[in-house]
Amino acid sequence: MNIILLGPPGAGKGTQAEKVSEKLNIPTISTGAIIRAAIKAGTDMGKSAQSYIERGALVPDEVVIGIIKDRLEEDDCKNGFILDGFPRTIPQAEALDRMGVNIDVVLELFVSDDEIVSRMSGRRVCACGASYHVLYKAPKTADVCDACGASLYTRDDDAAETVLNRLTVYHEQTEPIKGFYESKGLLKIVYGQEKLEDTTKLTLEVLGI
Ligand code: ADP
Ligand code: ZN
Repeated sequence: MNIILLGPPGAGKGTQAEKVSEKLNIPTISTGAIIRAAIKAGTDMGKSAQSYIERGALVPDEVVIGIIKDRLEEDDCKNGFILDGFPRTIPQAEALDRMGVNIDVVLELFVSDDEIVSRMSGRRVCACGASYHVLYKAPKTADVCDACGASLYTRDDDAAETVLNRLTVYHEQTEPIKGFYESKGLLKIVYGQEKLEDTTKLTLEVLGI
């Protein structure tokens, strides 16, 4: 199954993607995680992406389209994949179409702006890609990654002002792709619940898995 996860920053897409990925044994592809890894590694792509991410702006389409094109060609994508954070603009969605990629379902994880702002302050991430929340998804030991034991940190772009920027960007540039996929009959909505497990239950139900 080829799945797109759509939703505002901090809606919990990564967490739900992880569950679906386990259940279907297909990889999650997060453009955000790939870009953050490139910034950390100091590659040319990372260097050019950094200033956009810090402002809460989108990285240019041609950069992320290139990332996705390369990634989808890898062997582990043969039986399906979950896209988390791509496409984020109409040109990105069109580029995916042009690559000949067949999408089975686009799942929108709906969370209100107010809820997002209050959630983001508790988010903690690990360099390995794992993500936690001090209230909703706390690691077993405070500030330590369950998966790899490294110290957790707060993403720079989770600062309150940047979060507001990212929400504006989401409404202006990403939400229009809902119509794009709705007209293809692919869009399904899950309402984010207070408890992660409840959202997961709804997600799996909607995907019929
Ligand atoms: P979140 O879903 O919480 O916003 P992500 O990790 O998906 O976090 O994205 C973080 C940042 O990475 C975005 O604010 C943006 O700057 C950049 N980014 C990720 N995916 C894309 C994309 N498809 N197009 C443009 N920029 C992207
Ligand atoms: Zn880790």
